[in-house]
Amino acid sequence: MIRVLILGGTGDAAELAAKVTTIQGLEVITSLAGRTREPSVPLGDLRVGGFGGAAGLATYLQIMQIDLLIDATHPFATQISFNAADAAMEVRVPRLMLIRPPWEKVSGDRWIEVDNVKVAATALQNQAQRVFLTVGRQELAAFAHLEKIWFLMRMIDPPSDDALVPPGMVLCDRGPFILKNERQILIENNIDTIVSKNSGGDATKPKIIAARELGVKIVMVNRPAIPPGEQVNNVDAALVWLLNRC
Ligand code: NAP
Repeated sequence: MIRVLILGGTGDAAELAAKVTTIQGLEVITSLAGRTREPSVPLGDLRVGGFGGAAGLATYLQIMQIDLLIDATHPFATQISFNAADAAMEVRVPRLMLIRPPWEKVSGDRWIEVDNVKVAATALQNQAQRVFLTVGRQELAAFAHLEKIWFLMRMIDPPSDDALVPPGMVLCDRGPFILKNERQILIENNIDTIVSKNSGGDATKPKIIAARELGVKIVMVNRPAIPPGEQVNNVDAALVWLLNRC
């Protein structure tokens, strides 16, 4: 039996886990950080919570006798990816990164590309009034000082009571989202600007299309650097990588 650990928290990780469970001779454990109160539970085994840095992950890989590691975390979850790179190297477990391609700007898009959420907040100043903020619950504080802007903030779980939250309204929802609803959100709330991470993938792409159609600006946060190593950009390619190592 080959034991695979998938570092998850994405739709791709869940899809990969579901496919791996159908392959004889492979056993899969998905690891989630535990940020979401009611996460979608992937097929196969599940563990939840941090490992305690790269050293903790290396210990886990050894104790659980993990043969193969797939880092299918979100492209903006870089700490865990660097930890995975260090841990896998230390205990010599083959590691693959599964990273969906970023969205590409096309004709009609009005993107302002920035390197991080702090710069995204600066970019909003003096040019946005009603913003659809879709960067996640953990990033709200970076926008909290923008008192003259109204924010519609979409996230899976509501912010904690002591969180720094910008003025506006919280909308709790999780993808996949559909174009018709995204269009409606932008129109009904009179949104002039969206703030988004360049997450890629189809689940949250309809807001990008709706913005293009309606001429709404997007402050697009570019992806951070990821560790070096083998990578693929889709679930089937990750499966091929696994099968080649069985
Ligand atoms: P991060 O900054 O890269 O990681 C911070 C710490 O959280 C890690 O050092 C690790 O703790 C723990 N952790 C992260 N992912 C883990 C996993 N899959 N299993 C076990 N522990 C994990 O991560 P983040 O940006 O907070 O994201 C947390 C999770 O949410 C990720 O798994 C990611 O796939 C998912 N997610 C993130 C975003 C985003 O925009 N960042 C969006 C959608 C989904 P220890 O050091 O203690 O091991």
